[in-house]
Amino acid sequence: MTTHDKLESINPATGDVVGIHTVDDTASVDAAVARAREASHWWAGLGFDGRAEVLGQWRGVLTRRMAQLGDVVHQETGKPHGDAQLEIGLAIDHLAWIGSHAGKVLGRRRVSPGLLLANQAASVEYLPLGVVGVIGPWNYPVFTPMGSIAYALGAGNAVVFKPSELTPGVGVWLAESLREVVPDRDLLQVVIGGGETGAALCRADIDKLAFTGSTRTAKVVMATCAENLTPVLIEAGGKDAMLVDHDADVDAAADAAAWGAFSNAGQTCTGIERIYVHDRVHDRFVAELTRRAGTIHAGTDAEAQLGPMTMPSQVDVVRRHVEDALARGGRAVVGGVDAVGDRFIQPTVLVDVPEDSAAIREETFGPTVTVRRVRDMDEAVELANATRYGLGASVFSAARGPELARRLRSGMTSINSVISFAAVPGLPFGGVGDSGFGRIHGPDGLKEFTYAKAVTRVRFKPVLNLTTFDRTPEQDSAMASLLTALHGRATQLPKVPRRPIATLRERAGRGPRQSGRS
Ligand code: NDP
Repeated sequence: MTTHDKLESINPATGDVVGIHTVDDTASVDAAVARAREASHWWAGLGFDGRAEVLGQWRGVLTRRMAQLGDVVHQETGKPHGDAQLEIGLAIDHLAWIGSHAGKVLGRRRVSPGLLLANQAASVEYLPLGVVGVIGPWNYPVFTPMGSIAYALGAGNAVVFKPSELTPGVGVWLAESLREVVPDRDLLQVVIGGGETGAALCRADIDKLAFTGSTRTAKVVMATCAENLTPVLIEAGGKDAMLVDHDADVDAAADAAAWGAFSNAGQTCTGIERIYVHDRVHDRFVAELTRRAGTIHAGTDAEAQLGPMTMPSQVDVVRRHVEDALARGGRAVVGGVDAVGDRFIQPTVLVDVPEDSAAIREETFGPTVTVRRVRDMDEAVELANATRYGLGASVFSAARGPELARRLRSGMTSINSVISFAAVPGLPFGGVGDSGFGRIHGPDGLKEFTYAKAVTRVRFKPVLNLTTFDRTPEQDSAMASLLTALHGRATQLPKVPRRPIATLRERAGRGPRQSGRS
């Protein structure tokens, strides 16, 4: 690959070329990271207020030119303008939260030094790492990478961003919009290309790499970053389940299920892909979801609520999952194999799908969903948790929402709605298992792009100086007394069970302990 290689950005709905970009090779990625390093010192030195001001100005640019950015998103992903605006709006809201919270979350705060070091003052603060690399996906080309970019910037880092090769124009637009606010600083730069450019970014002199994409590529990214012991944050998709209890508002659940499964043409890492419904409301739920699914369609006409599949190869994945489900006894109550076109996929609802089929076990990432009847919510929880993924989930229940939500092995769960957790800036976003690790958004998301700096300071001479070779046996004895007073009553050892003791007494021929004796 040379710097003269070109990357064409294609509108997935029409096949039109909407942009031509120069590909960055290893040398140009390294140069971008070196420029970012330079900018990072200035940026870190600005402090929270200075950074909040810059990020606030950027927020203003993004908001005023939302329609323009939305059009780039629409052209590169094919998603409807309204959906493009939704993801941009949420990113703007996160940016506002970062500006007003970074100082509170990351700024220096005092910590109790404890009794042993009562003569000292202790504090912790969270300092920027330096340069953060971000490798982004195409499904939400603004909202998802901004979860890393904006939080890394808010924490005081400079960022080098490699957008998906399917959405380079969105990445370029974002970087140029920040440059309008800080023209002379390389705070956010974009490097263009596919896997090779991404690998070059992993190997570059960065301090952390934030990745969003498939579990398979996440493993490659981790292995590459391991070469330099570069820490990684991984957001690697999911197989999110929705649970519908017998006392749930079935209409609301079906409405949310339709949005969770079909919006963005199903290309949502926290999209609903499996639904487990209590036996008592199953049929009513399926009927209502079927009715709603029938009113939604994918296309290029003005009424279409769904766009095309942004990544052409995803069509084959969805087709394979639907075919496999049907071949193994599943039924399509809406859509089916015929719903899978060349570029557009119409909503599909599958029932009676075996739990070991691809449509249940693998990330489908298309506008399809499976619905299964369960006898109770214990069975629903068990089936929902029977996956290596653990990103998001949804629970519809009048009485048991919080309890069921807690039992689901997922980083995030919405009760009586879908995907709401992503829109709350103060909440961490991320998963467990094959869905990855680390968190964007919220206080955890800010801390993710920092390192904790602990400091102690002597305030007065200690009564008991523990860290000196001048320590006397009397001081050691005083220390032992102090420790006993502080911790000696704590029960660290497991309690001795009562029965074996009684048995020993009996073995000694002394009979069982009389009640009332101590
Ligand atoms: P990938 O995981 O392959 O790609 C994600 C990002 O990583 C892209 O920017 C990609 O670049 C980059 N990349 C690819 N190879 C390397 C590498 N060796 N080193 C560094 N970076 C690399 O996802 P796809 O876009 O191909 O989608 C595949 C599947 O991933 C989908 O079917 C879906 O299931 C899942 N997915 C999950 C997402 C989520 O939100 N968690 C988002 C998108 C997809 P480039 O695209 O330019 O090749």
